[in-house]
Amino acid sequence: MPGTQRSWWLREALALEGEPSPAAALVGDDAADVVIIGGGYTGMWTAWFLAERAPGTRITLLEQDICGGGPSGRNGGFVHGWWEQLPYLARLYGTERALEAAHAADEVVDGTAAWCDQHGVDAWFVKSGYLRVNAFPKRPRDWDGELVRLAELGDPGQLIGLNREEVQRVCASPAFGEGLMMPSAASIQPARLARGLRRVLLERGVTIHEGTVAQRVRREGSGMVVETRDGRVTADQVVLAVNAWIPGWPGFRTRALAWGSYMVMTEPIPDRLAELGWTNGELLSDSRFTISYFRTTPDGRIAFGAGVGAAGLGGRIGRTFTHSQAAIDRVIANFRHLLPGLADVGFEDAWGGPIDITADRFPEIGSTHGGRVLYAHGFAGNGVGPARLAGRILAARIASSDDPVASLPLFGRRQRFLPPEPFRYLGAKAIREALIRQDDALDEGRRPGLLTRIVARVPTLLGYRFRH
Ligand SMILES: Cc1cc2nc3c(=O)[nH]c(=O)nc-3n(C[C@H](O)[C@H](O)[C@H](O)COP(=O)(O)OP(=O)(O)OC[C@H]3O[C@@H](n4cnc5c(N)ncnc54)[C@H](O)[C@@H]3O)c2cc1C
Repeated sequence: MPGTQRSWWLREALALEGEPSPAAALVGDDAADVVIIGGGYTGMWTAWFLAERAPGTRITLLEQDICGGGPSGRNGGFVHGWWEQLPYLARLYGTERALEAAHAADEVVDGTAAWCDQHGVDAWFVKSGYLRVNAFPKRPRDWDGELVRLAELGDPGQLIGLNREEVQRVCASPAFGEGLMMPSAASIQPARLARGLRRVLLERGVTIHEGTVAQRVRREGSGMVVETRDGRVTADQVVLAVNAWIPGWPGFRTRALAWGSYMVMTEPIPDRLAELGWTNGELLSDSRFTISYFRTTPDGRIAFGAGVGAAGLGGRIGRTFTHSQAAIDRVIANFRHLLPGLADVGFEDAWGGPIDITADRFPEIGSTHGGRVLYAHGFAGNGVGPARLAGRILAARIASSDDPVASLPLFGRRQRFLPPEPFRYLGAKAIREALIRQDDALDEGRRPGLLTRIVARVPTLLGYRFRH
């Protein structure tokens, strides 16, 4: 039953911490230099880099739940940069600037590992690469074009094409065809990273209020004020690090939409992993639109997720994102399809959460209110690593530091808006269902129907980029 308890990752991390009490909620008036709304990776990395770049800055972080209670404590733990995005970045900014951005994004992997070492956070970091496999039986996937493009852009080797035999050596599933390997990717226990960040921020003197919903942000005099149910904080600057909750904020309603992603955790099956030869901790995914992503844990479990949850309506993040048994049934069906030899394996946990999608499936990092409100969101289910880069960029902007990431073209980029509600919800639902039907047909080795193919192409025709 999804939604009845916190994710397996977060329960494991909280048990390790000795089941701490949440930080006190905000009651009454407070003042800070910077208020950060959202205690996920984006908010916490922003606080961390700000504390580093501008020591003495009074930072207050408001989280409606507990830090890591949102997607940052429930995700798949795939950490990687933007090598797959490099051709798109090159289209937006030209080769040189795109490479700068991709290298900056690559830092997140080793940077996270180094940060964990430095601060005694054991986040189960394993750098074994990320392999995307083609599991459509009758549609060979030719990644050569992407590899040639990467080589032309000047960074061959960041993605490597593997034939079926090479893929089988990573994980011997009969469902897998050829694959694309990103060697620089790593896996982590996501909640251990989130909770480690929280501990270090408290040690650094950051004020954290949990159980505190920021209800409104407005100007007051020459500064800003953030209002909550029982209090308010005045500050010079506010950081909105609310991820999939962003469409609920005025000014951001057409900037992103939320979709659900759900995960299951198997019982420990180390012997079965050994039979598959999947013992080095590689991250795996398929190439469906509602991507299935799966990885192992040190005690021999498989954490398996898929972006199969429904689209959200407006800015509401309700039970569809956490309580859908239908979504979990679908995740389990995908598990059995991709790993048919594990049909008898039991599942010990299931949970879900929202991911936020912008019109081009790429994050938005910028500011509004004359630079007094900064934001970063739109990681599209790929934020574990990039949220660190976003936090670094926001902190550099606030601290006016000379960190080179501050001048990357990512800050303040303009992108297409999504349609307003209810058209966004209805359109996203119809298109999403068509893309799922299309992939179902390909999974069964059939050609998708004409209507399905037409609807599935609508986003591209309208200039949106929903598929990676
Ligand atoms: C099931 C699942 C699997 C995923 N797997 C991966 C993966 O393997 N790799 C990857 O790169 N990405 C993955 N993602 C995406 C990744 O988790 C996110 O991109 C990343 O955690 C974003 O961090 P964040 O800090 O921006 O957002 P969040 O972690 O969502 O943090 C935002 C926080 O803001 C809080 N908040 C919202 N509104 C308010 C308010 N008004 N007042 C106070 N607090 C508020 C929320 O409670 C939340 O804690 C996955 C996501 C899901 C749901």
